[in-house]
Amino acid sequence: MNTKMLIGGKLVDGAGKLDVVNPATGRSFVQAERADEAQLELAVSSAKQAFPAWAACGWEERAGYVSRLADGLEEVKDDLARLLTMEQGKPLNQAKGEIAAGIQEMRHVAGQRIEPVVLREDARTRIIEHRTPLGVVAAITPWNFPFLMVTQKIGPALMAGNTVVAKPAPTTPMIALAIAAVAADVLPAGVLNVIVDDNDLGAKLSGHRDVAKVTFTGSTVTGRKVGAAGADTLKRITLELGGNDAAIVLDDVRVADVAPSIFRAATMNAGQVCLATKRVYAPAPLYDELCDALAKLASEAVVDDGDKQGTQIGPIQNRMQYEKLLGYLDDAKANGTVIAGGHPLEREGYFIAPTIVRDIPDDAALVREEQFGPVLPVLKYDDIDDAIARANDSEYGLGGIVWAGDTQRGVEVAMKINTGTVWVNKGVEIPSDIPFGGAKQSGIGRKGGDEGLEAFTQPHIVNVALG
Ligand code: NAD
Repeated sequence: MNTKMLIGGKLVDGAGKLDVVNPATGRSFVQAERADEAQLELAVSSAKQAFPAWAACGWEERAGYVSRLADGLEEVKDDLARLLTMEQGKPLNQAKGEIAAGIQEMRHVAGQRIEPVVLREDARTRIIEHRTPLGVVAAITPWNFPFLMVTQKIGPALMAGNTVVAKPAPTTPMIALAIAAVAADVLPAGVLNVIVDDNDLGAKLSGHRDVAKVTFTGSTVTGRKVGAAGADTLKRITLELGGNDAAIVLDDVRVADVAPSIFRAATMNAGQVCLATKRVYAPAPLYDELCDALAKLASEAVVDDGDKQGTQIGPIQNRMQYEKLLGYLDDAKANGTVIAGGHPLEREGYFIAPTIVRDIPDDAALVREEQFGPVLPVLKYDDIDDAIARANDSEYGLGGIVWAGDTQRGVEVAMKINTGTVWVNKGVEIPSDIPFGGAKQSGIGRKGGDEGLEAFTQPHIVNVALG
């Protein structure tokens, strides 16, 4: 298990160390090397130095490097999955899925190209748009998908010709360091740097004068700080932020068909997913039946250490989030009716019993805020327009799901949901070739698809007089 950071092509010790905790036990299992400000400076200057040569490589050469990085990760994919479960907590099958998805994202982006576009060509003029890289990219990531978030950022950033300083969340640095160990053997020195902090270097990195772009995934609160920190130097930013996704259930569904999918969308990765279903709106005639079905699924769910076979829901990733969820359980008990769960598990680690809450008002904290855990409020509606208005009444606008018997009706409702993505009759899914991002305060910019790659470039227009 690599504990060292990657700076200037070398795996290095840090100025300090950071305890990394297994959330299934609450105990530290390893110490990661941790950077100070001087090492952050070194990482940024290494990336800056490496930039001209990397940018000068063509797409094909860079694609070769990114593909070899994907190959190197593939070779150790089983070790990566076990490590991911140990530091993040998710069940091993979900960890395997995350590793596979991250490698697939890198392979997909290695196949992408941005060709020059002739914007005008006539007897007198030829105007061509090229896309050029930006420079040093800071990639700052959260703890819920520590592998996927890093690979989704470094893949397109590198392919587009930028060099990178990646900084994972302090509670999940080990997967990023495992990527660093593979990259050290594959990429030219300085092209990718990986540093670890204890929540103390993000501000410095996102405001650094030599960083051209920040690609950030995390909470809306921190995203605002990233935007402010980059204002002085007019950094390009992509912000993938929080969500409070609504599932709207239409009155023509069969509850038995949709309840398991709703439950899964709300509790995958213990509900710690930006686009998890975080509140459910159910029509009055189906309300009791749906509440009961969700409560049954919650009571029967296997909650345990992610490395135990059969575990459906693992622990909450870190103590701070666990304590925040205990606060939401108090709110649920005070303002609503808890019909399943409602308590932490009496065992070591950060486990919360999957919780279903009914008859809770729209202005309760559990409904208005992003709970980011397996605690789901179910709300009743009489009129579909009212349900749509309540779903849209949020500062967030990331995703949402409409569950419908008649697909066309589902699409009509989806068209009225003010979010970056709406799914109809399917759980959350983000294909590599489709742009994904938030409306309102769920973010700025898109990842994935052509748009996601272009976000790591700038237009460069060459306007030529002919004749
Ligand atoms: P967070 O905002 O607390 O931390 C994210 C990262 O920012 C960490 O690496 C942290 O060290 C760093 N950071 C802390 N202070 C900083 C500062 N002042 N400047 C720059 N960086 C700083 O988020 P989290 O709790 O790790 O992640 C959970 C959040 O991420 C949820 O809100 C979730 O919805 C969101 N998320 C969004 C997406 C998406 O695609 N929209 C995907 C995954 C997670």
